[in-house]
Amino acid sequence: MLRRIAGFTLRKILPARMRHEVELRWRMFEFRGHQAFCPVCRSHLRGFLPASWSATATCPVCRTWDCHRLVWLFLERCLKIEQSPTSMLHIAPEPFLRRRLSATASVSYVSGDLRAGAADIRCDIHQLPFRDGQFDLIYVSHVMNVVRDPQQALRELFRVLKPGGIAIPQVPVMTDGSPTIEAPDSDDARMQLFQDKYIRRLFGEREYLRDLEQAGFAATYDDRLAELPKTEFARYGLSGTRLLVCSKS
Ligand SMILES: [Zn+2]
Repeated sequence: MLRRIAGFTLRKILPARMRHEVELRWRMFEFRGHQAFCPVCRSHLRGFLPASWSATATCPVCRTWDCHRLVWLFLERCLKIEQSPTSMLHIAPEPFLRRRLSATASVSYVSGDLRAGAADIRCDIHQLPFRDGQFDLIYVSHVMNVVRDPQQALRELFRVLKPGGIAIPQVPVMTDGSPTIEAPDSDDARMQLFQDKYIRRLFGEREYLRDLEQAGFAATYDDRLAELPKTEFARYGLSGTRLLVCSKS
């Protein structure tokens, strides 16, 4: 009840940006604890929220998922982006990751999204408005499974990546040898198949790796975060440590 009254009052009297900040602080207070820690929003938590794929999927404060926390840790600890000057493109940015990355002094950051207002630049991943080899680092999560033409989208990412750069085109894949499942082109069919009208396909791992290689990338699984102590792994609510990383030679 208190939460509902507070929410109503906030909506009435505060401008959107300030309201968002207050809501964030409120969630930090509401879910505070010592058992878990979100490395993205740096909140000490009682725990993460469950979802269909993990009992510790979502940060209750910044709403990032376990796969986003894994990527942040990879950027921070393996690529050391907080110490190395990096030009970065972030497609379909997760709001809190965008906030964290754009506030990182060493990162020259730009985000892009098809939806107006969701990123710094409105753009279509099939035809990016950036020059060849512009970025050291590209991150795009859960997009290749919703785009019209993933091969074209991957070719565009390859084009705008600098030689020697790294792209992380994160997407759910089936690792049991199943082929990619493509949904028929209708909202109803996608709802029926994937319970989501935006999801067009579920990649088989082999086909996704083939698409990445055909776009020009060298794709490998990076598992350096497996060196995290078990206690730290649990505290961050991670589901795994392997990350598919693509390079351009
Ligand atoms: Zn968080």
